[in-house]
Amino acid sequence: MVSFNYQIVKKKGLATNASINVSERKGVVVRVPFWMTKGMVEGFLKEKSDWIIKNLERLNSKKVVKKYEDGEKHLYFGQELTLTVVITPTPERCSVIHTDEYLQVKIFEGISKETQSDKIKEALLYWYLEKGIEVLTEKVNNYTKEIGVTYKEIKLKRVSSIWGSCSPTNCLSFNRKLVMAPHEIVDYVVIHEVAHMVHRNHGRGFWNLVEKYDPQYKNHRRWLKLNHHLLSI
Ligand SMILES: [Zn+2]
Repeated sequence: MVSFNYQIVKKKGLATNASINVSERKGVVVRVPFWMTKGMVEGFLKEKSDWIIKNLERLNSKKVVKKYEDGEKHLYFGQELTLTVVITPTPERCSVIHTDEYLQVKIFEGISKETQSDKIKEALLYWYLEKGIEVLTEKVNNYTKEIGVTYKEIKLKRVSSIWGSCSPTNCLSFNRKLVMAPHEIVDYVVIHEVAHMVHRNHGRGFWNLVEKYDPQYKNHRRWLKLNHHLLSI
């Protein structure tokens, strides 16, 4: 047994060698020729376990942990804003004000120090979701009109492994972390999902359509692979 979870993908055709990929989104994925038995795969992983563990540790150390305290930087559609916490004597609901440079959160002085960061996080999350739906709806409206399709609804979801999806009934879901990503990246994800209303696959026609509206789509896709650890709420 090895000390990490992994996923096995069987290679098609006459592949003779196995390969390993470690990523934050998918974890450890080992691709093996179809004839390799589970025991053989385990043996291969054991042999490579030092390398795998080193890479898993490297990914974990990159994760950004937020404390929700005064002065901390938070992203809003790619813009880095400074969180300012304002203690107010009036008992009101925690509220968020957004300026060019700051995200100001007002919090009642009666809230204990221990629960302060939880309350701030909660208020920010609520604000992010509200703004996120607003901005994403605008983008979706824009691209569905351009491409000539109609959608049913838009949702922001808490998911870790996907950026967006489009159901067969044209309900669009987006990862709520996108609220932190730069606009051009969000546009790419929106274009990608809207293009699925025309092509329900990742064939050539699909990518041609994506490229028409986002000529830089390859860079944007790469950006998501390399930077998604920055987008933690
Ligand atoms: Zn897709």
